[in-house]
Amino acid sequence: MQQGSDSSRSPGYDPAPSSSRALIVDRIRSTGTLSRVELTQITGLTAPSVTALVRRLIDDGLVDEAGRGTSTGGKPRTLLQIRATARYVVGVHLSYDSLTYVLVDYAGGVVARWRREGPGEDSDPEEVVERIATQTGELIDRAGIDSTLVLGLGFVCPGPLIRNNGVASAPPMMARWVGFPVHQRLEERLGLPALLENDATAAAAGTRLTTSHDVSVMAALFMSEGIGSGLRLNGNVYQGAHGNAGEVGHICVQIGGPRCWCGSTGCLEAVAGPATVIAKARAAGLDLGSHRRSGVAAFAAIARLALTGDSRAEAIIKDSAAWLALGAQAITNMYDVQLLVLTGPAFAVAGTIYLPILQERILSSAFGRSVTPEVVLDERGHDAAAIGAALMMLRSDHAVSA
Ligand SMILES: [Zn+2]
Repeated sequence: MQQGSDSSRSPGYDPAPSSSRALIVDRIRSTGTLSRVELTQITGLTAPSVTALVRRLIDDGLVDEAGRGTSTGGKPRTLLQIRATARYVVGVHLSYDSLTYVLVDYAGGVVARWRREGPGEDSDPEEVVERIATQTGELIDRAGIDSTLVLGLGFVCPGPLIRNNGVASAPPMMARWVGFPVHQRLEERLGLPALLENDATAAAAGTRLTTSHDVSVMAALFMSEGIGSGLRLNGNVYQGAHGNAGEVGHICVQIGGPRCWCGSTGCLEAVAGPATVIAKARAAGLDLGSHRRSGVAAFAAIARLALTGDSRAEAIIKDSAAWLALGAQAITNMYDVQLLVLTGPAFAVAGTIYLPILQERILSSAFGRSVTPEVVLDERGHDAAAIGAALMMLRSDHAVSA
């Protein structure tokens, strides 16, 4: 856990418990239970400040006293915990062929999840915002939550993003989203604060680290329709100057390689991303059923063929994995990570094929292999981006209003 709040306030890092009140809530939430004395030590705030801030948080119903901790000699300290039912946030992950919703409680627990059909090709962003507003209302109703307790929405879409605005450019199938002020329109339509985040960065925030992962530097390699990565340092994700850090899908891995939708050539995503896998599968005459277009559904159909013994599908995906292993190696060499997590909807359906190939590459080729980073599959890869966006909203100052 980060000592003090300095780095969480630095440019390029999110989120920003920028108020002392948000910082206290964040530290209790990330630890589970904390005493006032521990809060003073962790945050660097004075004891009287912590006492006053905690008193107000209890009065506002956001924090509860939760019994006493074990004594270290003096009087046992009263422990504090987040009141999980105090507030809720919604996370939404927009991709080409799916809209993933999660409802997260104030302690950071996922209480509901829902997946709906995505906008598809040539979608009208205005219509999709309308649909998101309606479906968000339905999600809250289905969970039986008082809608006045929902304090905001974290929204995730493919980058690159213009902060607090929308997408700067997009794959051809989502061309109408370029320049659309999705952040502003969501806030207007929902009447709630919204947070706009890159999908891979949010996934890094939403990846659950188990107790076996005692790490301070982890990276998420994210694959949905595209490929990206997110970096998490001491619990904070690194966003970069403009919110577009980690675009590993658009590093050149092949000089003179295929042209990418981003305008460059030989990008990892153009050489080995899901759209290329799908194109190769079609060219090889593989039966993708009704999934004729791009998107994770078509990619999943190929993964299913590969996993059920179709050697052509397996060869195409293994070739993609060999290229992605270069991206994984680049991330681990650049950032000296302790843990690399494969996450996102495409890894959720094909990760078991990719994982050993990436592990082998890291094991044999990573520069710092004397302390080889662990490479694992995220158990909730489908939802990680939506969960991460919700958790980032929970860490914001919006989340501590009375
Ligand atoms: Zn590119």
